[in-house]
Amino acid sequence: MSNIQDKVVIITGASSGIGAAAAKELAAKGAKLVLAARREERLEQLQKEIQNDGGQAIYKVTDVTSHEQMEELAAYALKEFGKIDVLVNNAGIMPQAFLFKKKVDEWDKMIDVNIKGVLYAIAAVLPSMRERKSGHIINLSSVAGHNIYPGGTVYCGTKYAVKAISEGLRQEEAISGTNIRVTNVSPGAVSSELLETTTDAETKTGLDDFYKIAIDADSIARAITFAVEQPSDVAINEMIIRPTVQV
Ligand code: NDP
Repeated sequence: MSNIQDKVVIITGASSGIGAAAAKELAAKGAKLVLAARREERLEQLQKEIQNDGGQAIYKVTDVTSHEQMEELAAYALKEFGKIDVLVNNAGIMPQAFLFKKKVDEWDKMIDVNIKGVLYAIAAVLPSMRERKSGHIINLSSVAGHNIYPGGTVYCGTKYAVKAISEGLRQEEAISGTNIRVTNVSPGAVSSELLETTTDAETKTGLDDFYKIAIDADSIARAITFAVEQPSDVAINEMIIRPTVQV
């Protein structure tokens, strides 16, 4: 039997891109999916797709910037499935621009979704995982959490923060003996709707050009699945997945 069979997996940002791809891949291997994002029609469509393929999925409309909604999402997963085995902390936005453009609203949103959203989700699932002494938290950082480039200053800041949160959480749970695994996933250029969150025309043109080499979201879904299917005493802590030709 697959090590993924009957695992309850919450995925934030499941309505498109990497989140949707990971949901399908994990459902195909027998996981019970709890899909979360803001766009209900997308979640409903994905749920149907998974169910039509013989998988199990429920969904809850959730804005990760709301601490209350994240707590409600975890409570819903526990009510419906009785446990939470895996959290894929995937929701994210990437409105990039040089700092001098002073896109303060976009800085605030990025910090709220990419950093606070990740923390709220961890806070929501940790108590039940700690109680069961079992769990796996997978955070989506980025190669932008390893390298900084002009225009990506704030986005990189948020993804460096995700990497720091992953490593801090890993150490805290390791010394606490809770048997909770932490995986930090850092994709390079991946085809998705993420670029649409960049509003600055100049930056967007450069990104569109750079993303010509992008790989499919399925590539990241396979990496996430690989981390989940390891035996419980093995933790894949860090994964970088780039297009082969990405410098
Ligand atoms: P997409 O834009 O396709 O997906 C982002 C997801 O996040 C959507 O499902 C969106 O759903 C959700 N989301 C955004 N804001 C919120 C919110 N406030 N509350 C709940 N959900 C939210 O992008 P990707 O699939 O590419 O991105 C997934 C993750 O991977 C992100 O963290 C991104 O930073 C990271 N990443 C992506 C890379 C790439 O090249 N694509 C490279 C490196 C990292 P909805 O709008 O319905 O709420």
